[in-house]
Amino acid sequence: MAPFNSLSRRGRGGSCLTNEINAARVLTSDQLTRYSRNILIQEIGPIGQKKLLASRVLVIGLGGLGSPAALYLAAAGVGTIGLADGDQVELSNLQRQILHVTPNIGRPKVDSARRAVLALNPEIKVRVFGERVTAANILGLIQDYDFVLDGTDSFAAKFLINDACVSQGKPFCHAGVIRFQGQLTTYSPGRPCYRCLFEELPAPGGAPTCGQEGIVGAVAGVTGGLQALEAIKYLTNAGTVLSGSLLTINGLTMEFRKVKFPQNPACSACGAGSTGFNPSLYSNSSAASQGCR
Ligand SMILES: [Zn+2]
Repeated sequence: MAPFNSLSRRGRGGSCLTNEINAARVLTSDQLTRYSRNILIQEIGPIGQKKLLASRVLVIGLGGLGSPAALYLAAAGVGTIGLADGDQVELSNLQRQILHVTPNIGRPKVDSARRAVLALNPEIKVRVFGERVTAANILGLIQDYDFVLDGTDSFAAKFLINDACVSQGKPFCHAGVIRFQGQLTTYSPGRPCYRCLFEELPAPGGAPTCGQEGIVGAVAGVTGGLQALEAIKYLTNAGTVLSGSLLTINGLTMEFRKVKFPQNPACSACGAGSTGFNPSLYSNSSAASQGCR
């Protein structure tokens, strides 16, 4: 690894180069090696790596989406990762939830996930929250993080995360998967939110679930990996995130479509008439619940 050579190869301006060299000097020799493939990228570089190391990302739901997302965030050197899930590892999880391994069946997912994440990157901090995320606890949970990643599987949890994050101006990445299909979008403060797109919870039984219809593990892997990518871009100011756009993934045809959606002035979460987050409006079942994730 030769970060200084790579910087000079990119031919950057003097002051920019000086800033990058100063940032690289703060990184340890091991960090320069571990994160060399990040640092080589112009849009990240040593300054972006320093930002990642100083960042805190909360992953809610440690299933098919949260598994690849947490692993890629840890591998990239996100300095503090929060892991939230109230479930235990089940045999049927292992087809896609790659944070968890067979000997951990029956153990709390947060313990299984913490072990996997720290085995990959022992230099980061991991905080665990081994309870269901509810309207009563979500504000306290998200307040310590720079970015939230929604890896849950229930619409109730997704609306809850949206409304809490919007009320606090907290960026987050939503994703959902079923069968061969995935979708994701990112909320940036001041931009359209998940509720602008979907407005209200579907009626009970009105939307299929992975538990009923299945999910290909690799589709959850791709989609969760893209959530980690959104977080990394947001935290390093690289490129553009899916703010005001929904990416849909069809794994059967390999069609990826990006569809723009506008802010809804009447949105109850981010619209002008919003009265903010009111925990009493959510039932305690509005949580990161069991299922396919
Ligand atoms: Zn909205």
